[in-house]
Amino acid sequence: MTLLVVGTVALDSVETPFGKADSILGGSATYFSVSASYFSSVRLSAVVGEDFPDEHREIFENHKINTKGLVTLPGKTFHWKGSYGFDLNTANTLETHLNVLAGFNPKLTDEEASTPYVFLANIDPDIQLAVIDQLKAPKFVALDSMNFWIENKRDALEQAIRRVNMVVLNESEAREFTGYPSLVKAAREISRLGPEAVIIKQGEYGSISIFKDEIFSAPAYPMENVYDPTGAGDTFAGGVMGYIARREDVTSNILRQSMIVGSAMASYNVESFSLERLRKLDFNDVVRRYNEIKRITVFEDLQ
Ligand code: AMP
Repeated sequence: MTLLVVGTVALDSVETPFGKADSILGGSATYFSVSASYFSSVRLSAVVGEDFPDEHREIFENHKINTKGLVTLPGKTFHWKGSYGFDLNTANTLETHLNVLAGFNPKLTDEEASTPYVFLANIDPDIQLAVIDQLKAPKFVALDSMNFWIENKRDALEQAIRRVNMVVLNESEAREFTGYPSLVKAAREISRLGPEAVIIKQGEYGSISIFKDEIFSAPAYPMENVYDPTGAGDTFAGGVMGYIARREDVTSNILRQSMIVGSAMASYNVESFSLERLRKLDFNDVVRRYNEIKRITVFEDLQ
């Protein structure tokens, strides 16, 4: 089944305790689409500037991601600069330059608007709403967001949340959006706005979900070496939605499996800067890590 993603394609500058890199490929839709492409066919809707290098476009092509909706506008590509300390769970945003994103107004083709599975990756919630308005009978729509939009466009974000089936946020965003320190309460509060599924990501500690009132806790894969956590959340979401689109259904069991797939994909992504590791996986790598997560979290009944 096909999956449409709308989000950012970026040129990032990232600094971690292990190195730094400038003007590398990033963006919420980039990590999401490459991750999801291991499970379903993906259509990408995003904007770049005239400075966007051809070698980056090849990464989408190599993953058979449909880039008819990747628009080029005069100006510079969206640029995010962030750094991480030894607590690799928290990104410090140093700079956000919207550049061509400020003029992005996605017009979906009939084909894109009829895509059954849709992910509104982290981007301006007004753009998320504009996309929702164009969808024709979608089966399952999910969205992600970020503190930047919670702080600058809260009303639009809340409207968008009311119109999707699933919300994926990280723990600090869920707390900031709801005002609840408890993640379970925060997830329930978001669910009350409409979505039947809410996933809250907790970085290296995994994620929790509430689906039709049922709680699930998914572990992250315990990594010995994390090089760059940028994009882990989007890569996780790509695994989740890619797997849902592959199974063409959302049940409690499929959602649980999809979160383990998300953990497996994210664990590969953090092994390198940008998409260097993520783009070179094969399906057996995914299966191996999925099974490993299962093996290390299975336990028997209390005797
Ligand atoms: P993650 O680490 O999963 O939260 O995603 C990091 C990616 O999100 C980076 O590659 C950035 O280019 C992108 N990003 C950062 N800030 C924003 C923003 N305000 N809106 C959309 N995408 C962003």
